[in-house]
Amino acid sequence: MVILSGCTNKGTNEPLSKDGFMLGTFVKIKLYDSKNEEILDKAFERLREIENRMSLNIVDSDLSKINNSAGIKPVEVHEDVYYVIKKAKEFAEISSGAFDPTIEPIVKLWGIGTANERVPSEEEINNKLKKIDYNKVQLLEGNRVFLEESGMGLDLGGIAKGYGADEVQKILIENGVKSAIIDLGGNVFGLGSRLSGEPWKIAIQNPFSDNRGSHIGTLAIHDMSVVTSGDYERYFEEEGVKYHHIIDSKTGYPANNNVSGITVLSRYSIDGDALSTAFYVLGVSDGLALAEEIEGIEVVYITKDKKLYLSSGIINVFENTNEEFEISIP
Ligand code: AMP
Ligand code: MG
Repeated sequence: MVILSGCTNKGTNEPLSKDGFMLGTFVKIKLYDSKNEEILDKAFERLREIENRMSLNIVDSDLSKINNSAGIKPVEVHEDVYYVIKKAKEFAEISSGAFDPTIEPIVKLWGIGTANERVPSEEEINNKLKKIDYNKVQLLEGNRVFLEESGMGLDLGGIAKGYGADEVQKILIENGVKSAIIDLGGNVFGLGSRLSGEPWKIAIQNPFSDNRGSHIGTLAIHDMSVVTSGDYERYFEEEGVKYHHIIDSKTGYPANNNVSGITVLSRYSIDGDALSTAFYVLGVSDGLALAEEIEGIEVVYITKDKKLYLSSGIINVFENTNEEFEISIP
């Protein structure tokens, strides 16, 4: 089910790279200053571990066990899982529930990106909404997690990739790598800088183009995570309406605002991942306000009317390379 294809280069100026499908997404890691394939193998092993613990598609993952024991009993989990749930709760608090890891019953109901995707009835949505509340996730001593009510469930799809990128970063640094790109399907981490010492230039995809190579601009960064959440990443269409995978935890419907994509710059990818999802749900006005409040976080919003809204600290980092998009002031 999981494809892992190695693709490596030796003895050239090309980076040493490896890719595969992990955590529900296409992963590519490129090392620019090392030819040691074992480092790449270790990184992929770590991602596999994280996937095995946090995936909902794996019946005996820690996360599946927590969900199966909702309302019944606490479950002891690996410290990876405990840590990510703890962070997820923190981001739920910071974002007043815009990011809510207990969104699982609603995500399952819509089934977006699965064979069962459909528009649920309002009654179904309202029933499941009763089960969404991050305050009912108990983090107990001994790495035990308890969901207070039956029917509740955790979904770490909005944060696990970021954790994975951070863990890969750690492995690369421990092994002496100083120049690398870690790409987990839209969660990009630029480790160190280019070999020339210049910053990495990470492109932000044009949400309105089917061509993955079309961009709206670039971010010049070193040692930074760049995470994007967008309504174009996973969705289905019915009767002309687009239903995407980022759910407003207050309504139970895909977040319906003027945002097309939101890119978050942060030192740690786990922060950028959770916040990208939160900022999408919050929309431009509340999202920008929150971004300004959190130290070390910068954002670029792309709206459906092709405007760009930037946080104040990003001006020197962001370059607009597409004249169709206009930088605006909220
Ligand atoms: P991302 O692509 O990082 O924005 O995450 C989207 C994924 O996070 C979805 O596929 C769901 O698994 C999950 N998700 C959707 N809506 C929310 C939400 N409001 N809070 C937390 N996770 C969510
Ligand atoms: Mg996210």
